[in-house]
Amino acid sequence: MALKKKIKNTLLQMIYKSGFARVLAGFGGNNFLTALNYHRVDYPENRPWLDPSLISATPEQFEEQMRLLRRDYCPISIDDVLSAIDGQKTLPKRAVLVTVDDGYRDFKEYIFPIAARYDIQPLLFVPTAYPEAGVFWWDKLYWALQNWDADTLETAYGNYDLSTPAKREIALKLLRAKIKAGDFREGMGLVDTLYKGSKPKAKSDTTDIINWDELRELGRKGVCVAAHTHSHPLLTRIPFDEACAEIKESQENIQKEMDKAFPVFAFPDGQPDFFSPKLIRFLEAEGIKFAVTTIDKNVQLTKENALFFPRVGVFRKLSLAAFAYRLTPLYQLLGK
Ligand SMILES: [Zn+2]
Repeated sequence: MALKKKIKNTLLQMIYKSGFARVLAGFGGNNFLTALNYHRVDYPENRPWLDPSLISATPEQFEEQMRLLRRDYCPISIDDVLSAIDGQKTLPKRAVLVTVDDGYRDFKEYIFPIAARYDIQPLLFVPTAYPEAGVFWWDKLYWALQNWDADTLETAYGNYDLSTPAKREIALKLLRAKIKAGDFREGMGLVDTLYKGSKPKAKSDTTDIINWDELRELGRKGVCVAAHTHSHPLLTRIPFDEACAEIKESQENIQKEMDKAFPVFAFPDGQPDFFSPKLIRFLEAEGIKFAVTTIDKNVQLTKENALFFPRVGVFRKLSLAAFAYRLTPLYQLLGK
């Protein structure tokens, strides 16, 4: 296994360093698009109370990636995407769209300033209940399990051994999966109970999520701030009418707060389990033109797939060579 990994890494390095990755990226065909999906760009020690698994890159890695995109690829904006869907224009070769989910503070600290240096316009998806002072459930769960004042935890979702840091990590993964598989509101009840039952977090000077004033300022600088539901529920784990209300409410809030709502949407945790044909039809009826998932692929953008468009995930462990490989059409054929 280790040898296989080594061979793969050597191959990826060769493809990248020889410039072949860039050549390959040009063979995607008409309107081939890699939409990249980031969450946080930060150092884990900056905000140790937040779940570090959501960090997509350190600021240095992100800068390296943006520099590469500007030098060898064609970063596009949401307007380019919408025009391509309407058939008004064709995307350039090696088109890449940078998208960021959830609206963490590091968007303002790192992502926007770095992307702007390379004239790249990231698209930011914000669950509209969170700007100002929201805390996401996965961060609450992370904090609760890190700071639970006992070696065991008994819940309606099973009992967990918390006697070592490694076991706490395993417990976090298992509990997160169980919550995602069950009724969403019930799961949130458990998360809140655990969060309140653990050691309170020290107050920090700034909120973890950027506020509406800051979002408006970013909007004036050209950031497309788009809807990502209101309270970030898993849309197939709540009743359908509530899911529709979540979508509608977030779009209305964006319009009210930003003065402009793009016809764009991101499914929370956009794995195939968490969206459905019915929800896609609802988005279409609401006038949404482009909706993104987290299906880890790059494909040709068409009218047919524009409402459940895949995005390639970016992770801290990704080398620049592996990042470049993900921008080629080989990635959709061969995967990771
Ligand atoms: Zn999200």
